[in-house]
Amino acid sequence: MNLNCAFEEWAILIGQDRVLNGKLAELNYGRCTTGENRRLSGVLKLLKPEDIAPIIKTAVKHQVPLYPISTGHNWGYGTALPPVDNCVILDLSELNRIIDFDAETGVVTVEPGVTQGQLADFLDQGEYPYMTPTTGAGKAASILGNALERGYGITPYTDHFGAVMAIHAVLPDGSFYRSALTDLGGEQLDRSFKWGVGPYIDGIFSQGSVGVVTQMTIALARRPEVVQSFLFGLKQPEKLGNLVSRVRDVIARYPGVVGGINLMNAHRVLAMTTTYPRERVVPGEAISLEILQELMQKNMVLPWMGLGTLYGSKRVVNAVKQELKLMLSPVADRLLFVTDERIQILTRLGKFLPNTLRSRLTCKLEMLERSLQLISGYPNQTALPLCYWLKGKPQQDAMLDPARDGCGLIWYAPLIPMKQASVVSYVQMVYDIMAKYRLEPLMTLTSLSARCFDSTVPILFDLNSEPERRKAESCYWELMEKGKEYGFLPYRVGIQAMSWLSENNSSYWQTVRKIKRSLDPSMIISPGRYI
Ligand SMILES: Cc1cc2nc3c(=O)[nH]c(=O)nc-3n(C[C@H](O)[C@H](O)[C@H](O)COP(=O)(O)OP(=O)(O)OC[C@H]3O[C@@H](n4cnc5c(N)ncnc54)[C@H](O)[C@@H]3O)c2cc1C
Repeated sequence: MNLNCAFEEWAILIGQDRVLNGKLAELNYGRCTTGENRRLSGVLKLLKPEDIAPIIKTAVKHQVPLYPISTGHNWGYGTALPPVDNCVILDLSELNRIIDFDAETGVVTVEPGVTQGQLADFLDQGEYPYMTPTTGAGKAASILGNALERGYGITPYTDHFGAVMAIHAVLPDGSFYRSALTDLGGEQLDRSFKWGVGPYIDGIFSQGSVGVVTQMTIALARRPEVVQSFLFGLKQPEKLGNLVSRVRDVIARYPGVVGGINLMNAHRVLAMTTTYPRERVVPGEAISLEILQELMQKNMVLPWMGLGTLYGSKRVVNAVKQELKLMLSPVADRLLFVTDERIQILTRLGKFLPNTLRSRLTCKLEMLERSLQLISGYPNQTALPLCYWLKGKPQQDAMLDPARDGCGLIWYAPLIPMKQASVVSYVQMVYDIMAKYRLEPLMTLTSLSARCFDSTVPILFDLNSEPERRKAESCYWELMEKGKEYGFLPYRVGIQAMSWLSENNSSYWQTVRKIKRSLDPSMIISPGRYI
């Protein structure tokens, strides 16, 4: 590796002020919510996409590995850090053009730095009737990096890589990759049809390391006449299995109208809505059952809470609501449909309540309003305070950044079959393991289809305490190993766990390695990323 020569050539190409050495790189890009550290060789901050190919050629010539990021907010999975030491980060956040938008079909082509907030503003300003594929990560997170990680959200196109129609990338030899139909002269068509013709290989760029993606075309969901949510609870946690079967029936019966359903345990809901009772929790322990019940009662939170989304015309949504009442009422408690108008009415009525009740209601209504915005394709920070639960409330209205603010968070994100027995044993497994490590067991189950949930367990810990960090890490690994024994495997992992996936060198990973070696023999692009 000849780092100095590489940096000299890069500085000539993009300007000295766009090149950061290792020390500055670690200072500006080294903070990670998982507590992982990596030695960084530097950062290149790009302004022009045409610089990517020559940068890669220089990297190959001097054997310096590159790690491209879009906005680098991969919080809980590694933030901006590469899986291995001694990489140069390729920061693409300033490549942020919306290259093309077809207002007739709602297909948009973006560069890596385009954020959820930017796309939402663009659609808003043009009064285009399409929705930004929002996630819980907030306005500053990217569209492209999230889709490459196969992230998902809660607007109608839940599966973000599923909505990717076409990809442009630069390969490790500096050559260009275009999706199949574009290469046949059918760029317009390519933007409308995911699979192209011939073997489908756009997929190797997702959770992959075979190129730098320079632009991505994604299909946006059309904004329907009505967006509503429905909330429900479960008083008796032992009946979770019944509820799961009913959730599956609802999703199977009303695909498209019911966008998805999230089941959250009480800890998860409390983490987003209340202050952590720090002074009442013994250091190194988790909240006691007694305090938990008190918080639940005070905040009207049940052991499990559900949040579903409804999209469609007024008549269709009204009809489905009637069906949902019949289907969910026998197995769930407190079923409630939430609309903007209903929130406004309750806010007005709340003004007549005594002070304490009024402030509690206002807090709840604001939360509901922000959730409704999120599912309507307007990104916001509703989910981010979760990272600050143990640490203390973030400043209201500040642009939240859990890595910058020193929040400790590792995501455990396994797929769970949408079956009673699987969900019940999974939930018990998480409670048992988290209790063993005396960590707060926050859990969500998000429907990805009528067959499968993805569960997200944010392992929260004090990033300033090395013993607490080690405890969180051990807990993560026990969840991963035990989960594997039970058949619960992750849909996505953090940089600390990527090599774990291919440990047994199965035929799948041997194939992936062959592809990687043939496209990137010098292992220059994102070494260690998933393989
Ligand atoms: C409270 C909270 C809620 C969250 N909610 C969600 C959620 O609802 N859904 C969800 O999916 N995630 C969620 N996240 C996780 C994460 O923050 C998001 O997925 C976020 O969008 C990822 O960061 P990013 O967009 O900046 O992507 P980046 O960090 O830029 O990219 C992710 C990875 O993709 C690769 N990559 C990026 N760009 C390129 C490129 N141009 N070429 C090649 N490779 C590239 C890199 O390896 C990079 O590390 C949440 C996190 C928190 C803390």
